[in-house]
Amino acid sequence: MTRRLLLSSLLTLVLCPCVPAQEPAKDRIVVVVSLDAFPAFALDDPALPTPTLRRLIREGASVRRMQTVNPSVTWPSHTSMVTGLTPAKHSVVFNGLLVRQGPKSPPRVEPHTDKTKLVRATTVYDLAYRAGLTTAQVDWVAIENAPTITWQFAEWPDPNGAIEREMIAEGVLTEAEVRGFSKANITWRDRIWTEAAVHILQRHKPNLLLYHVLNLDSTQHRYGTGNLAALTGMAYADDSLRRIVDTIEQTGLKDRTTLLVVSDHGCKTARRSIRPNAVLRERGLLRETAGKIECDAWVVPEGGSALVYVTDPANRARLVPELKRAFAGVEGIDRVFEPADYDALGYPSPERNDQGPDLVLAAKDGYSFSGAHTGEAVIDIPPGASPGSHGYLNYDPDMDAILVAWGRGVKRGARLDRARVFDVGPTIARLLGLAMTGVDGRALTELFE
Ligand SMILES: [Zn+2]
Repeated sequence: MTRRLLLSSLLTLVLCPCVPAQEPAKDRIVVVVSLDAFPAFALDDPALPTPTLRRLIREGASVRRMQTVNPSVTWPSHTSMVTGLTPAKHSVVFNGLLVRQGPKSPPRVEPHTDKTKLVRATTVYDLAYRAGLTTAQVDWVAIENAPTITWQFAEWPDPNGAIEREMIAEGVLTEAEVRGFSKANITWRDRIWTEAAVHILQRHKPNLLLYHVLNLDSTQHRYGTGNLAALTGMAYADDSLRRIVDTIEQTGLKDRTTLLVVSDHGCKTARRSIRPNAVLRERGLLRETAGKIECDAWVVPEGGSALVYVTDPANRARLVPELKRAFAGVEGIDRVFEPADYDALGYPSPERNDQGPDLVLAAKDGYSFSGAHTGEAVIDIPPGASPGSHGYLNYDPDMDAILVAWGRGVKRGARLDRARVFDVGPTIARLLGLAMTGVDGRALTELFE
């Protein structure tokens, strides 16, 4: 090779982001366990009943606080994990797709949306699959009908799915249980999702497994944080994690496997509920006749924040200033953000993205948003109603999530003060010998040897 050719080859390697960092690692396994709504602050309690998580932190590496994204909600955050991007770029701002219903109707959020339509970015499982690696998901989100998943037991399992048929044949669950799955309680569903993750690991040994449990999130929504219900939810999540660790160790996969335990956001308890759609009704911007709502704007609540949409984009210039004034004085609303603020917050722009909100409302401590459009604008959350919420802006430390790494390649005892959920994707990519470039996150190399 001439010196000039050598120089140009070296420059290509340095400058071209399309050159993989290394070869795809076909012998490697990365398991991502997501414990929905496990708050980072919980780990400050030395008596937290989570022995498996403690063991993994002791034997592995961890991040003290992992910052989530805006909105600090399940699907946006999980999508940031797998794309390495903020919602501004991957476009997922709800647990589903915002679907407009016409210029005078409230938009709705549709969870049953194909991943290819919902997630407008490349994911780490897309990269892995295209590199010839195998991929699997159990109860992962924003992933419906993803063509780059090899094996799955979905949030809404399919009685005719390959993994479901294998588990039915093995007597783990019955066909009737799969058919009635979505109506069963979340605690039981978590147990079955865990069985599915164990099954896929034992039988198929995928290079990447994404597995997510939900019971803790549901428990904290219903009962709030810092109580026996929340502690019991954490202990149950820890037991699901223990099943995964046991499987890795007992199936002889430990030398090949890196385990990443994450959460998507934290949780906090509110006392008062804000109804921004009732504010619209009081101002004549929302009318109801014979049970049918006609409105100029509609607000979709996301716990500690809410996204405002002008129903007819042609009216934006006239309505947005009026809406801003209407919400600014409401009890419990801390700030009203407009698109000029979105770059710092990571929301998509309404000018460039059909999912982008026209305004974002942020609640003060002690308040959360509801979608109700009748009654008073702000009420006490009644006893017995769900007081736990996330969705507060991501600089609220109560929204911080967890990240623990354990197993192959992990630097024992490594501690990082902060990371961001969109660092998870590039980190997975690096572990699998893939390159995830041009994204907001970075591979957390400090945690690995
Ligand atoms: Zn969540």
